Amino acid sequence: MPELPEVETIKRGLEKNIVGKTISDFDCNWRKIINKPLAAYKKILKDLKIESVNRRAKMIILNLSKSWNLLIHLKMTGQLVYGSKTKCLVGGHPIVEGYDCLPNKFTHATITFTDKSHLYFNDIRKFGWMHLLTDSELEKEIAEMKLGIEPFDKNLTLDYFKSLFKKRPNLKIKQFLMDQSLIAGLGNIYSDEVDFYAHVRPMRTVKSLSEKEINLIYKGIKKILIASIKAQGTTFSNYRNAEGEAGAYSKQLRVYGKWGEDCLCGGKILRAKIGGRSASYCPKCQK
Ligand SMILES: [Zn+2]
Repeated sequence: MPELPEVETIKRGLEKNIVGKTISDFDCNWRKIINKPLAAYKKILKDLKIESVNRRAKMIILNLSKSWNLLIHLKMTGQLVYGSKTKCLVGGHPIVEGYDCLPNKFTHATITFTDKSHLYFNDIRKFGWMHLLTDSELEKEIAEMKLGIEPFDKNLTLDYFKSLFKKRPNLKIKQFLMDQSLIAGLGNIYSDEVDFYAHVRPMRTVKSLSEKEINLIYKGIKKILIASIKAQGTTFSNYRNAEGEAGAYSKQLRVYGKWGEDCLCGGKILRAKIGGRSASYCPKCQK
Protein backbone atom coordinates (compact mmCIF):
# COMPACT_ATOMS: atom_id res chain seq x y z
CA MET A 1 0.00 0.00 0.00
CA PRO A 2 1.35 3.44 -0.81
CA GLU A 3 2.37 5.19 2.39
CA LEU A 4 2.64 8.89 3.19
CA PRO A 5 5.61 9.71 0.88
CA GLU A 6 4.07 7.89 -2.07
CA VAL A 7 0.67 9.52 -1.60
CA GLU A 8 2.32 12.91 -1.10
CA THR A 9 4.19 12.32 -4.40
CA ILE A 10 0.91 11.57 -6.17
CA LYS A 11 -0.64 14.66 -4.59
CA ARG A 12 2.18 16.89 -5.82
CA GLY A 13 2.10 15.38 -9.30
CA LEU A 14 -1.65 15.87 -9.60
CA GLU A 15 -1.40 19.37 -8.21
CA LYS A 16 0.87 20.39 -11.07
CA ASN A 17 -1.34 18.79 -13.70
CA ILE A 18 -5.04 19.01 -12.84
CA VAL A 19 -5.63 22.09 -10.67
CA GLY A 20 -7.77 24.56 -12.63
CA LYS A 21 -9.17 21.93 -14.97
CA THR A 22 -12.93 21.56 -15.43
CA ILE A 23 -14.63 18.17 -15.41
CA SER A 24 -16.78 17.36 -18.44
CA ASP A 25 -17.71 13.75 -17.65
CA PHE A 26 -17.29 10.88 -15.22
CA ASP A 27 -17.56 7.17 -15.85
CA CYS A 28 -17.33 4.13 -13.63
CA ASN A 29 -17.76 0.39 -14.21
CA TRP A 30 -17.38 -0.85 -10.64
CA ARG A 31 -20.19 0.26 -8.37
CA LYS A 32 -18.35 -0.38 -5.11
CA ILE A 33 -15.78 2.35 -5.76
CA ILE A 34 -18.37 5.11 -5.58
CA ASN A 35 -20.73 6.16 -2.78
CA LYS A 36 -23.64 7.41 -4.90
CA PRO A 37 -25.29 6.15 -8.10
CA LEU A 38 -23.25 6.80 -11.25
CA ALA A 39 -25.96 9.11 -12.59
CA ALA A 40 -25.54 11.32 -9.50
CA TYR A 41 -21.75 11.43 -10.00
CA LYS A 42 -22.20 12.43 -13.62
CA LYS A 43 -24.71 15.14 -12.79
CA ILE A 44 -22.83 16.63 -9.83
CA LEU A 45 -19.32 16.47 -11.31
CA LYS A 46 -20.15 18.00 -14.68
CA ASP A 47 -18.66 21.51 -14.96
CA LEU A 48 -16.98 21.38 -11.52
CA LYS A 49 -13.44 22.68 -11.36
CA ILE A 50 -10.49 21.11 -9.51
CA GLU A 51 -9.60 23.84 -7.03
CA SER A 52 -6.86 22.11 -5.07
CA VAL A 53 -5.37 18.72 -4.26
CA ASN A 54 -4.71 17.66 -0.67
CA ARG A 55 -3.62 14.65 1.33
CA ARG A 56 -4.78 13.29 4.68
CA ALA A 57 -2.91 10.20 5.93
CA LYS A 58 -2.79 7.88 2.91
CA MET A 59 -5.75 9.48 1.12
CA ILE A 60 -5.93 12.02 -1.69
CA ILE A 61 -8.56 14.75 -1.60
CA LEU A 62 -9.57 16.57 -4.76
CA ASN A 63 -11.24 19.80 -3.64
CA LEU A 64 -13.78 20.82 -6.26
CA SER A 65 -15.82 23.96 -6.86
CA LYS A 66 -19.28 24.40 -5.30
CA SER A 67 -18.04 22.78 -2.04
CA TRP A 68 -17.72 19.26 -3.46
CA ASN A 69 -14.77 16.91 -2.95
CA LEU A 70 -13.52 13.56 -4.11
CA LEU A 71 -11.90 11.56 -1.32
CA ILE A 72 -9.73 8.81 -2.82
CA HIS A 73 -8.12 5.82 -1.13
CA LEU A 74 -5.84 3.71 -3.33
CA LYS A 75 -5.64 0.82 -0.82
CA MET A 76 -3.35 -2.04 -1.95
CA THR A 77 -3.28 -1.79 -5.72
CA GLY A 78 -5.03 1.44 -6.68
CA GLN A 79 -3.50 3.82 -9.10
CA LEU A 80 -4.26 7.30 -10.38
CA VAL A 81 -3.08 8.01 -13.88
CA TYR A 82 -3.30 11.40 -15.47
CA GLY A 83 -3.16 11.20 -19.22
CA SER A 84 -3.17 13.84 -21.90
CA LYS A 85 -1.91 13.89 -25.47
CA THR A 86 1.59 14.81 -24.33
CA LYS A 87 2.06 13.14 -20.95
CA CYS A 88 1.18 10.23 -18.75
CA LEU A 89 1.67 10.58 -15.01
CA VAL A 90 1.27 7.45 -12.91
CA GLY A 91 0.81 7.50 -9.15
CA GLY A 92 0.24 4.60 -6.80
CA HIS A 93 0.74 0.95 -7.65
CA PRO A 94 2.99 0.57 -10.72
CA ILE A 95 1.25 0.00 -14.02
CA VAL A 96 1.07 -3.65 -15.08
CA GLU A 97 3.36 -4.42 -17.99
CA GLY A 98 1.45 -4.70 -21.23
CA TYR A 99 -1.43 -2.60 -19.91
CA ASP A 100 0.04 0.81 -20.44
CA CYS A 101 -2.60 1.81 -22.98
CA LEU A 102 -5.34 3.60 -21.11
CA PRO A 103 -8.06 2.99 -20.27
CA ASN A 104 -7.26 -0.70 -19.70
CA LYS A 105 -9.11 -3.60 -18.09
CA PHE A 106 -8.11 -2.33 -14.63
CA THR A 107 -9.60 1.12 -15.23
CA HIS A 108 -12.71 1.39 -13.06
CA ALA A 109 -13.33 5.12 -13.10
CA THR A 110 -12.47 7.92 -15.51
CA ILE A 111 -12.70 11.65 -15.01
CA THR A 112 -12.67 13.49 -18.31
CA PHE A 113 -11.70 17.15 -18.39
CA THR A 114 -12.93 19.76 -20.85
CA ASP A 115 -9.46 19.84 -22.49
CA LYS A 116 -9.93 16.10 -23.32
CA SER A 117 -7.31 14.94 -20.82
CA HIS A 118 -8.28 12.22 -18.31
CA LEU A 119 -7.71 11.07 -14.77
CA TYR A 120 -8.01 7.29 -14.61
CA PHE A 121 -8.58 5.30 -11.44
CA ASN A 122 -7.15 1.82 -11.98
CA ASP A 123 -7.24 -0.98 -9.44
CA ILE A 124 -6.33 -4.62 -9.97
CA ARG A 125 -7.82 -5.87 -6.70
CA LYS A 126 -10.63 -3.31 -6.47
CA PHE A 127 -10.24 -2.38 -2.79
CA GLY A 128 -9.72 1.30 -3.50
CA TRP A 129 -12.52 3.86 -3.59
CA MET A 130 -13.47 7.35 -4.69
CA HIS A 131 -16.17 9.06 -2.61
CA LEU A 132 -18.01 12.18 -3.71
CA LEU A 133 -18.69 14.33 -0.65
CA THR A 134 -19.73 17.85 0.28
CA ASP A 135 -17.38 19.80 2.54
CA SER A 136 -19.31 18.82 5.68
CA GLU A 137 -19.64 15.16 4.60
CA LEU A 138 -15.90 15.09 3.94
CA GLU A 139 -15.17 16.43 7.39
CA LYS A 140 -17.54 13.88 8.93
CA GLU A 141 -16.18 10.90 6.95
CA ILE A 142 -12.59 11.75 7.89
CA ALA A 143 -13.52 12.35 11.55
CA GLU A 144 -15.17 8.92 11.70
CA MET A 145 -11.88 7.29 10.65
CA LYS A 146 -10.35 8.51 13.93
CA LEU A 147 -7.01 9.18 12.30
CA GLY A 148 -4.04 10.17 14.40
CA ILE A 149 -1.86 13.21 13.95
CA GLU A 150 0.03 13.91 10.70
CA PRO A 151 3.81 13.43 11.08
CA PHE A 152 4.45 16.99 9.87
CA ASP A 153 1.77 18.61 11.99
CA LYS A 154 3.46 21.27 14.12
CA ASN A 155 1.50 19.98 17.11
CA LEU A 156 3.44 16.73 16.95
CA THR A 157 6.02 17.91 19.47
CA LEU A 158 8.33 15.56 21.32
CA ASP A 159 6.11 15.89 24.41
CA TYR A 160 2.98 14.99 22.44
CA PHE A 161 4.84 12.10 20.86
CA LYS A 162 5.80 10.80 24.31
CA SER A 163 2.18 11.07 25.43
CA LEU A 164 1.21 8.71 22.58
CA PHE A 165 3.70 6.17 23.93
CA LYS A 166 2.00 6.32 27.32
CA LYS A 167 -1.37 5.58 25.68
CA ARG A 168 -0.30 2.21 24.30
CA PRO A 169 2.64 0.91 26.42
CA ASN A 170 2.24 -2.75 25.44
CA LEU A 171 2.27 -2.29 21.67
CA LYS A 172 5.33 -3.41 19.79
CA ILE A 173 7.11 -0.42 18.30
CA LYS A 174 6.39 -1.47 14.70
CA GLN A 175 2.68 -1.78 15.51
CA PHE A 176 2.78 1.58 17.28
CA LEU A 177 4.28 3.27 14.21
CA MET A 178 1.74 1.63 11.88
CA ASP A 179 -1.28 2.41 14.06
CA GLN A 180 -3.16 5.03 12.02
CA SER A 181 -5.08 6.21 15.09
CA LEU A 182 -1.83 7.36 16.73
CA ILE A 183 0.25 8.79 13.86
CA ALA A 184 -1.21 8.64 10.35
CA GLY A 185 0.71 7.79 7.21
CA LEU A 186 3.34 5.18 8.10
CA GLY A 187 2.99 1.59 6.95
CA ASN A 188 5.20 -1.44 6.56
CA ILE A 189 8.06 0.25 4.71
CA TYR A 190 8.65 3.32 6.83
CA SER A 191 8.03 1.62 10.20
CA ASP A 192 10.91 -0.77 9.41
CA GLU A 193 13.15 2.07 8.28
CA VAL A 194 12.39 4.23 11.34
CA ASP A 195 13.18 1.31 13.66
CA PHE A 196 16.48 0.81 11.88
CA TYR A 197 17.27 4.51 12.13
CA ALA A 198 16.60 4.44 15.88
CA HIS A 199 18.60 1.19 16.37
CA VAL A 200 15.61 -0.55 17.97
CA ARG A 201 14.23 -3.95 17.04
CA PRO A 202 10.65 -3.78 15.72
CA MET A 203 9.33 -6.27 18.30
CA ARG A 204 10.38 -4.20 21.31
CA THR A 205 7.44 -3.01 23.39
CA VAL A 206 6.85 0.69 23.62
CA LYS A 207 7.33 0.68 27.40
CA SER A 208 10.80 -0.89 27.06
CA LEU A 209 12.18 2.06 25.08
CA SER A 210 14.61 4.49 26.67
CA GLU A 211 14.28 8.26 26.46
CA LYS A 212 17.15 8.33 23.96
CA GLU A 213 15.48 5.69 21.76
CA ILE A 214 12.16 7.58 21.80
CA ASN A 215 14.00 10.75 20.73
CA LEU A 216 15.61 8.89 17.85
CA ILE A 217 12.29 7.42 16.70
CA TYR A 218 10.72 10.88 16.82
CA LYS A 219 13.56 12.35 14.77
CA GLY A 220 13.67 9.33 12.45
CA ILE A 221 10.01 9.60 11.43
CA LYS A 222 10.41 13.13 10.11
CA LYS A 223 13.86 12.61 8.66
CA ILE A 224 12.98 9.44 6.73
CA LEU A 225 9.64 10.72 5.45
CA ILE A 226 11.26 13.96 4.25
CA ALA A 227 14.05 12.04 2.48
CA SER A 228 11.53 9.72 0.85
CA ILE A 229 9.26 12.53 -0.32
CA LYS A 230 12.34 14.19 -1.80
CA ALA A 231 13.11 10.96 -3.68
CA GLN A 232 9.42 10.76 -4.73
CA GLY A 233 8.68 7.72 -2.58
CA THR A 234 9.56 4.07 -2.91
CA THR A 235 8.97 2.39 -6.28
CA PHE A 236 5.25 3.12 -6.35
CA SER A 237 5.39 6.09 -8.62
CA ASN A 238 6.82 6.40 -12.07
CA TYR A 239 6.71 9.25 -14.47
CA ARG A 240 7.01 8.24 -18.07
CA ASN A 241 7.80 11.70 -19.26
CA ALA A 242 10.69 14.09 -18.84
CA GLU A 243 9.74 15.18 -15.34
CA GLY A 244 12.59 13.25 -13.80
CA GLU A 245 13.29 10.00 -12.01
CA ALA A 246 10.73 8.80 -9.51
CA GLY A 247 10.37 6.27 -6.74
CA ALA A 248 14.07 6.57 -6.03
CA TYR A 249 13.82 6.03 -2.29
CA SER A 250 14.02 2.27 -2.89
CA LYS A 251 17.77 2.83 -3.29
CA GLN A 252 17.96 4.35 0.17
CA LEU A 253 16.07 1.60 2.02
CA ARG A 254 18.23 -0.05 4.69
CA VAL A 255 16.16 -3.04 5.86
CA TYR A 256 12.62 -3.04 4.43
CA GLY A 257 12.11 -6.03 2.14
CA LYS A 258 15.75 -7.04 2.52
CA TRP A 259 15.55 -10.03 4.87
CA GLY A 260 18.16 -12.63 3.99
CA GLU A 261 20.42 -9.94 2.54
CA ASP A 262 23.46 -8.37 4.17
CA CYS A 263 23.13 -5.18 6.16
CA LEU A 264 25.67 -2.41 5.55
CA CYS A 265 27.32 -3.50 8.84
CA GLY A 266 27.96 -6.95 7.34
CA GLY A 267 25.33 -8.72 9.50
CA LYS A 268 22.35 -10.64 8.09
CA ILE A 269 18.97 -8.93 7.93
CA LEU A 270 16.30 -11.05 9.62
CA ARG A 271 12.52 -11.17 9.37
CA ALA A 272 9.96 -11.34 12.16
CA LYS A 273 6.16 -11.60 12.11
CA ILE A 274 4.57 -8.84 14.14
CA GLY A 275 0.79 -8.54 14.27
CA GLY A 276 0.40 -10.38 10.97
CA ARG A 277 2.94 -8.17 9.19
CA SER A 278 6.55 -8.92 8.27
CA ALA A 279 9.25 -6.79 9.81
CA SER A 280 12.84 -6.74 8.58
CA TYR A 281 15.62 -5.76 10.96
CA CYS A 282 19.34 -6.13 11.56
CA PRO A 283 20.09 -7.82 14.90
CA LYS A 284 23.58 -6.26 14.96
CA CYS A 285 22.46 -2.65 14.34
CA GLN A 286 19.19 -2.86 16.27
CA LYS A 287 18.92 -3.68 19.97
ZN1 LIG B 1 23.37 -3.96 10.55
